Amino acid sequence: MPELPEVETVARRLRETTRGLAIRAVEVFDPKLDHLLGEQSPLDAGILDVVRRGKFLALLLDDDRVLVMHMMMSGRILVRRVDDPPDKYLRAAFTLDGQTQIRFCDPRRFGTARVIGPDDYKGFQSRLGIEPFSRHFTTRNLTRRLEGRTVAIKTALLNQSILAGVGNIYADEALWRARLSPLLPAGKLDHRQVASLVRAVRRVLRDGLKAGGTTFGSYADADGRPGENQQNLNVFRRTGRPCPRCRTAIESEVIGSRTSHFCPRCQRR
Ligand SMILES: [Zn+2]
Repeated sequence: MPELPEVETVARRLRETTRGLAIRAVEVFDPKLDHLLGEQSPLDAGILDVVRRGKFLALLLDDDRVLVMHMMMSGRILVRRVDDPPDKYLRAAFTLDGQTQIRFCDPRRFGTARVIGPDDYKGFQSRLGIEPFSRHFTTRNLTRRLEGRTVAIKTALLNQSILAGVGNIYADEALWRARLSPLLPAGKLDHRQVASLVRAVRRVLRDGLKAGGTTFGSYADADGRPGENQQNLNVFRRTGRPCPRCRTAIESEVIGSRTSHFCPRCQRR
C-alpha cells in the first residue's frame, strides 16, 4: 500500500500540473465511486491546491469542497492528457482545463475518492495523527501519544490516529534503524528510544521520498513510473537475508496481523 513517500510523490506532481486549473467534467466507471462522488452537486470547481495528509491526497477546491482520495492497496492517480492512450482499470476520470486529465485507476477497487464539505474535512483532519514531516513530530508529542499503550510499537506506528502516513514498509525500516524490537510495548519506550524512533521515522520517509517511493507491485507515480526505494530497504521483505549492520539473518513475524521484518540481534527485545 502506498505510504507517505509514495502519496507525497503523487501529490507533488499533481500540485505542479493541476493547481490553478478547474475540473470541468467527471466520468465515473464504478458504482462505489459514483455514490461517493455523486452525493453532492456535480464537480465543477477550480483546484486551489493539492495536499497530502497521512496516506490521503486532498484536492482543495474553490467552492470550499475537498476531493479526498486514497489509493489503498492498488490504486493509481495519474496525470494524463485527454487523448493519451487509455489506462487499465480506470474507475474515474476528472477532465480539467487544457485537456489535462486526472485518472484514478484501481484493479482491486479498494481505493476511494470522495467529495466532502469543509466541516467533514475538518473532522477528517482531526482523526489523523501527527504528520511526520511537521514540527509537531517531536519526542515529547510522540511519547504523549504512546503513553499507556500496551500494543507492540510496530502496531502503534501503523495506527493512523497516532502517526499519519507510516505503513508496514517504513515502520519496519524505522524500527531497524532505531534498533528497537517491533514487539516492545509502545507505552514502555523510554525517552532515548522514542527520540531515536522519531529520527529514524523521519530519515526513512525522507529517503523513500528521495527515491520516488517504494514499488513492490502496483505503486506508480502520477506519470505511471515505479519508485526506486525498494533497492534501499534493509529489512522489509528480506527474511533470511543478512542484516546490513551485523550479518544476522533477518526474521519475520506476524505482529497485529501484519508481517514484520527485523534483525533478531540489532533489535533484541
Ligand atoms: Zn543486525
